[in-house]
Amino acid sequence: MLTAFSPKLKICCIGAGYVGGPSCAVIAYKCPDIQVTIVDINEQRIKEWNSDNLPVYEPGLDEIVFACRGKNLFFSSDVDFHINEADLIFVSVNTPTKKSGLGAGFASDLAYLESATRRIAKVATSSKIVIEKSTVPCKTAESMRAILDANSNDLIRFDILSNPEFLAEGTAINDLLHPDRVLIGSLTTPEGIRARSVLASVYEHWVPKEKIITANLWSSELSKLAANALLAQRISSINSLSAICEATGADVDEVAFACGLDSRIGPKFLKASVGFGGSCFQKDILNLVYLSESLNLPEVAAYWNQVVIMNEYQKERFTSRIIKSLFNTITNKNLAIFGFAFKKNTGDTRESAAITLIKYFLRENANVRIYDPKVPKEQIVRDLTDPEVASVEKFNQRVQMFDCPYEAAKGTDAIVIVTEWDEFKVLDYQKIYGEMNKPAFVFDGRSIVDYNVLKKIGFKVSVVGKAI
Ligand code: NAD
Repeated sequence: MLTAFSPKLKICCIGAGYVGGPSCAVIAYKCPDIQVTIVDINEQRIKEWNSDNLPVYEPGLDEIVFACRGKNLFFSSDVDFHINEADLIFVSVNTPTKKSGLGAGFASDLAYLESATRRIAKVATSSKIVIEKSTVPCKTAESMRAILDANSNDLIRFDILSNPEFLAEGTAINDLLHPDRVLIGSLTTPEGIRARSVLASVYEHWVPKEKIITANLWSSELSKLAANALLAQRISSINSLSAICEATGADVDEVAFACGLDSRIGPKFLKASVGFGGSCFQKDILNLVYLSESLNLPEVAAYWNQVVIMNEYQKERFTSRIIKSLFNTITNKNLAIFGFAFKKNTGDTRESAAITLIKYFLRENANVRIYDPKVPKEQIVRDLTDPEVASVEKFNQRVQMFDCPYEAAKGTDAIVIVTEWDEFKVLDYQKIYGEMNKPAFVFDGRSIVDYNVLKKIGFKVSVVGKAI
């Protein structure tokens, strides 16, 4: 029975990534009576969490970590020790997609989750509440249960909860401090309900009770996939309309505004762009597609798969527009790439549209000059020298990275705005124009600059979703 908690509740979070780090740092910050230790097998990452230079950039994260680190927040690579001393264990490891060995589809790679679960089963010498924080396919808790149960006995009991994380990178701290909801999935047995209330009591330190909602385990797991699929679907929907706008003279921002005023639709997530990126949207939709296929629901699978197809199409379409505008060839032309992160206010580049666009540009033998205010150069090198993107030789020949947008734009034929960093709205474009080849182009893949101002300066401008 789960009764003998240590006097000070102890939480261990397995996985010190973009989710485990910020979400458990906020728990420590809001719950001084709870000891939180975030562990990872990646020792370098733990070193960085213990340094002045945290491995994750999120507005407000430094302040929170520095306020409680060493008091009730710890980062450690001694995974086994902290698993064993914890009462509650969050499993927040990566769950990437992998090409399924069966058929052509993609499946969730649950190897890290399974390995963390096996670790818990092996080293725990007392009862634990194990919480799925990672995004997982529906029914994953059943596999975790099978692994954990094989190691339980009269003295050691494992309760499993699902507590998916809905934070968005770039606004993670605000999302964690003021969540729209906290979802806790559990079995409806007395033990499941007891475990659920222990976790709820942690969140109740700062989240209003009515925002802490409960569900059965499978609803909770599916809700996370569904939420991301619905968000991505909105982006693909507005992007599909942006193609019609470019072809007709309608303006996607005006269309989005008009539609968004309908309270049934709402204005959020209706911004046309070069396509969504990030580690979650595509992965979670592909999981949903795989789940639908495995449940023998091919039409459902095809429906959601179209969201991903549309996203790829948007990037191809944007690239074609650039090539066409630049007189049908970009060979040996210089392109300034403004932004490499998958969105503003993060240094994360996973599935960033920039990578795909640059892959296309390099295939067409363009030279690219990249500037991003937050992405480390080593990360850009890693992303672009992936054999799927470019050879090391091509990278060395064609790619340069800059610390300043003005330097990046010097001597280029075009600026391609890929990430919606605020600073790109207020650059001195007059100065930039003076140092570019003519005619000078701006391709705004985020519709963030005032194209009338740019046109007045002399630029030729193309904006996603506008026929200009
Ligand atoms: P991440 O790759 O940044 O971090 C995962 C960490 O887990 C890595 O540092 C890795 O070394 C560590 N790890 C893997 N196996 C381990 C083990 N056995 N023991 C100890 N550490 C181990 O991933 P992330 O972005 O933090 O995502 C984590 C999960 O949260 C994923 O399932 C993801 O889908 C989900 N999620 C992500 C976001 C997001 O915005 N990034 C939002 C909501 C949910």
